[in-house]
Amino acid sequence: GKILFNDTIIERKKIIDIEDRGYQFGDGIYEVIGVYGGKLFMLDEHLERLERSAKELQLALPVRLTILKEKIVELVSTNGLHEGVVYLQISRGVAERWHQFPSDDVTPVLVAYTKVEETLSDAENHGAKAVLTEDIRWLRCDIKTLNLLPNVLAKQKAIENNAVEAILHRGDIITEASASNVFIVKSGELYTHPADNYILNGITRRKIFALCEKLNMKVNEETFTVAELLRADEVFVTATKLDIIPIIKVDDTIIGDGKPGDIVRNIVEAYRHSIQELVSD
Ligand code: PLP
Repeated sequence: GKILFNDTIIERKKIIDIEDRGYQFGDGIYEVIGVYGGKLFMLDEHLERLERSAKELQLALPVRLTILKEKIVELVSTNGLHEGVVYLQISRGVAERWHQFPSDDVTPVLVAYTKVEETLSDAENHGAKAVLTEDIRWLRCDIKTLNLLPNVLAKQKAIENNAVEAILHRGDIITEASASNVFIVKSGELYTHPADNYILNGITRRKIFALCEKLNMKVNEETFTVAELLRADEVFVTATKLDIIPIIKVDDTIIGDGKPGDIVRNIVEAYRHSIQELVSD
């Protein structure tokens, strides 16, 4: 397929310089946007978050957001992507390797490409296992940066233990998972970590809030502990294209009755419905 390079759609070829700061320092930001039936899901929200990440790192966007939006839509249709994601990253650019920001004439480098990904409907329907691991990340997890080594190590631990996700805790407090947000259900109400510097404010997470409002379910943006997670009635994780995965076992602890609970099943159904609306729109 083709790729987006700054504001131009070109053939995919090797374009990354060894002195790209994204490559050398992880000095950059990214977004992963879901595509269902050829349509981009919550594109505006992703672009807003991209803009925020850029601002927090004092990184100038190389392309105006209105142009970028058009180009992303064009890329999806040019590549004929039906089910998958658009991966987009912006690095601070190419410059001689010094830690400090390069001079102003160095422009950030934007690349985006499409990737086929199927929905994990088996895990969505039947639930899956997660492992617990200490959250060893920095204190600005609200910025979607390219620095993902702690997330990589956590996810690897999950996979080695036949789990879909690694749920992270800072001491006693559950923050999120290696590449998704975590919700628990307790006495009919939902709980998830507040959107502060300890978590990424997921676009899927925000969609769950909107769906729960329609379903008349209360969501509390409040922290909860490892012990509360382990004795929750239901647990689920949310992320782009992963969608919503019920967690039925955490390490050796069975959650609830070991099956996806009623609340998460209702939310999955409402989520699928909103995707269906997008696709048939
Ligand atoms: N938290 C982390 C650390 C992530 O990497 C992700 C995304 O992959 C999420 C949460 C979920 O965010 P979103 O729903 O916007 O994909």
